[in-house]
Amino acid sequence: MVKETAYYDILGVKPNAGDNEIKKAYRKLALKYHPDKNPEEPEKFKLISQAYEVLSDAKKRETYDRGGEEAIKGGGTGGMDFHSPMDIFDMFFGGGGGRRHRGPQKGKDVIHQLTVTLEDLYNGATRKLALQKKVICEKCEGRGGKEGAVEKCTSCRGTGMQVRVHQLGPGFVQQVQTVCGDCQGQGERINPKYQCKACQGRKIVKERKILEVHIDKGMKDGENIRFHGEGDQEPGLEPGDIIITLDEKEHSVFRRQDRDLIMTMEIELVEALCGFHRTITTLDQRTLVINAIPGEVIKHGDIKCIMSEGMPLYRDPFEKGRLIIKFTVNFPENNFCNIDKLAHLEKCLPPKTEVIIPDCAEEHDLVDFDPKNDSDSRRRAEAYEEDDDERGMGGQRVQCASH
Ligand SMILES: [Zn+2]
Ligand SMILES: [Zn+2]
Repeated sequence: MVKETAYYDILGVKPNAGDNEIKKAYRKLALKYHPDKNPEEPEKFKLISQAYEVLSDAKKRETYDRGGEEAIKGGGTGGMDFHSPMDIFDMFFGGGGGRRHRGPQKGKDVIHQLTVTLEDLYNGATRKLALQKKVICEKCEGRGGKEGAVEKCTSCRGTGMQVRVHQLGPGFVQQVQTVCGDCQGQGERINPKYQCKACQGRKIVKERKILEVHIDKGMKDGENIRFHGEGDQEPGLEPGDIIITLDEKEHSVFRRQDRDLIMTMEIELVEALCGFHRTITTLDQRTLVINAIPGEVIKHGDIKCIMSEGMPLYRDPFEKGRLIIKFTVNFPENNFCNIDKLAHLEKCLPPKTEVIIPDCAEEHDLVDFDPKNDSDSRRRAEAYEEDDDERGMGGQRVQCASH
């Protein structure tokens, strides 16, 4: 038998309740009576906290069960010191790590996007960003008016909420809670006579703020740079953070793939066959020369790379990825040289494939392929075949069939 049940009653549990039951009861009540939600009953919040602090500790619970509140609070033998209700709350809800933490609640984080070039990400850069941010009005120190000008809203008695009672029928009433229209849920009003002129009683003014954003070598598209506590200010709230998200602009030459840079290089057929020199301007404006020595053939679609000419690694910028070069070979146009010269060229190149053409082979001209024109061209091809028959080409086919 326990001496008294007051702490159990506060949490709404029976004296034989288990630890989990006590935790659950505290969680429910603490959230309900937290001063953020229920500023009207700070005593209740405190009592819940004290009850939980005692009943959640096996040794203290035992003392309470034996001697009641008197035993806990001392009775001459030096009783326990209760923690502040907020500390208990923060401990319970994982203060610090989670959304809740010690001290005032934190305001929202503000996210801005910053467009950066690949050069910025390669070389590192400092960019200045002008932002509009809300700051607490200096004139009235966030009060909205002269000291003493803030009055509790009479319509809602400072709760910010109004309760209306609907009579649904004899003996049936429904309570509806709405945000107080007179104070917009603030629970207080500022006497217009003493309203702050700088902020018109809004407690907050907008300010232009220049942020210096340091982009480190090797940072990536979508990377976040966080400015702690630089978010909008609001009375009673610890300001949130400003988060700058990097947005990489497309580059005309290079495409980044993790730590590598990729580029395409168009070369002429003569270069593909007979060697070449080409230059590449790097993202830090150096000039690289690449050589294909005569005799080395670069084929269309070949991929080569230069080691350590890719992107620098973040926080280890002397380490770099690869510069990957994808080659495309430009072939010359039709009739790029006369037939005599072609014969010379042919002698230089590997021999043609020898093909045996049977008598019955059908000859076709190649037509440029148009993927959009599939059905049309097929119909046209059928029409040609019929024409051929009429012109008597069918004779050869007969000859072939008799083989
Ligand atoms: Zn002001
Ligand atoms: Zn009100």
